Amino acid sequence: MRTTKAEEKLNDLILKSSNIVIFGHENPDGDSIGSAVGMYHYLTALGKHPHIIIHSRLPEYFNFIIPAGSISYYVEDGEKCLRCIEEADLMLFLDMNGMNRTGEVSAAAEAARLRENAPHCALIDHHLNPQTDSFDVVISDTEVSSACELLYHVLLAQPGVCGDVNNLPKECAEALLTGILTDTNNFANSVYPSTYLAVSQLQARGVDRDAIYNEVFRSYSEQRMRLMGHLLQDNMRCLPQGVAYFTLSIADKKKYDFVRGDSEGFVNLPLSIKEIRMTAFFTEEPGFVKVSLRSKGNVDVNDFSHKYCNGGGHKNASGGRLYMPIDQVPEYFESKVKEFFK
Ligand code: 5GP
Ligand code: MN
Repeated sequence: MRTTKAEEKLNDLILKSSNIVIFGHENPDGDSIGSAVGMYHYLTALGKHPHIIIHSRLPEYFNFIIPAGSISYYVEDGEKCLRCIEEADLMLFLDMNGMNRTGEVSAAAEAARLRENAPHCALIDHHLNPQTDSFDVVISDTEVSSACELLYHVLLAQPGVCGDVNNLPKECAEALLTGILTDTNNFANSVYPSTYLAVSQLQARGVDRDAIYNEVFRSYSEQRMRLMGHLLQDNMRCLPQGVAYFTLSIADKKKYDFVRGDSEGFVNLPLSIKEIRMTAFFTEEPGFVKVSLRSKGNVDVNDFSHKYCNGGGHKNASGGRLYMPIDQVPEYFESKVKEFFK
């Protein structure tokens, strides 16, 4: 097992730290929570004191991998989060390309870097354009399926693990496989040769892939399925540029008893239409519209999000925010689609 300079430095920082804060990104998905929880178990096994900080709650179907008391949510217990940051020797940022992706807690994280006895900061991520200046260690690779896959390779390269997956706690392996399954949408996209190697080893460690699949992809409500039907039947619009989009209003969320995570995966659905090469899903939130974009092949939705949706992400999967009423989104989006594919 070859260890890179950055991996060596990460190991160094971990060994000399005790209180370690792990940040997940805003609107956490399976990769964010999987990498944070995977890291949490690894650090706990080393005798460290990790704590995970996330802006707000996750969909409930991720509860099965979350250890009791391991996470504080900034919007619910801001004081505890600030105390953890205050006491941190090391702050780890996973599955995001900069501290600003942590949501409102990012101001406190940025401020901690400037204080006396500032904590060290490390980034482990698979997005484009990492903000390298903010971190003592940057491990960034876009040629992997997920942050969880990258973390798998990083942990295996740590001297104490010696390249042997059996030296990782089983709960760590479970969390990592959860993130790989969700970020690849069950191996539908962003799958590399290295992904199968990681998954093979994680399964060999005893992780039950089928059980994770059932927890994550088959744990929804009937109402969620009916909402999906409604959006596809009554709301989805297909544009001549090969673009499909739909919008979810707060009113429809109420009507279908929407709970966090219910719209997970919806944005991918229209990509199964042969002619569709880009999809957009707009969700009305209090004060803004959340944007999710996906594409096939060479259509660069990171670029689209950057230009028109105040966001970013990856070439084939990105997100952002619009600050306009949801009923103005179709006109805005269709005009930007025309401009983008001109
Ligand atoms: P999702 O559509 O699942 O929310 O996000 C897809 C991808 O876009 C993820 O990789 C996520 O990190 C990125 N993304 C989502 N929202 C934002 C955003 O507001 N800003 C940036 N820079 N990236 C985002
Ligand atoms: Mn990810």
